[in-house]
Amino acid sequence: MTLLLGIDFDNTIVSYDALFARLAIEAGYIDDVPSGGKTAIRDVVRAAHGDKAWQLLQADAYGARVSEALLSQGFSAFVSSARRLGVPLVVVSHKSVFSHVAAGGPNLRYAALAWMRANRFFEPGGLGFGVDDIYFEGTRCEKVARIRELGCTHFVDDLPEVFAEKSFPNGAMRILYAPTGDRADGSADAVVSDWFDLRDLLFAHAERAVA
Ligand SMILES: [Mg+2]
Repeated sequence: MTLLLGIDFDNTIVSYDALFARLAIEAGYIDDVPSGGKTAIRDVVRAAHGDKAWQLLQADAYGARVSEALLSQGFSAFVSSARRLGVPLVVVSHKSVFSHVAAGGPNLRYAALAWMRANRFFEPGGLGFGVDDIYFEGTRCEKVARIRELGCTHFVDDLPEVFAEKSFPNGAMRILYAPTGDRADGSADAVVSDWFDLRDLLFAHAERAVA
């Protein structure tokens, strides 16, 4: 079977935990950073300041301030193993062109591509992606349609809702990326807490065989 590994972008490849903490402190929404990453910050901000406040922080994190977001732990090592074993990777992201709440804000897809470029996605000696390997879709439904059309054999996402979509392809392995360990539910075939975990899960056997 030919493998094709599809990967979500926001909060899967790119980690916003530290950036959301910084933005929430700057906005005066929190004094101390709660444990539990982005989700915990979201819950505090929403409870005290409402959903609009949280949406505006998101618009900043995914747009004007995205350059401060970090590559998720272990992602480079994971990609190196995939490249060594010849396993193709594609990125399929649900991302609107502009924020719905921050009028006049930057093009969020260009911002994501600029972040990728800064993190050496498109360098042969870096992560080795082609621009053609990156797909942005306007809705979750279109994202799942893309996963199906590409024929992904595996998909990695931090949102179980993606796996729960009716049209999600039956044959594709659903891998939930849950760095804070709080999203385990029945919709995934496997749950990993970081990219080293996923490398072990998918490639350990093959890596030993080629070593
Ligand atoms: Mg995501």
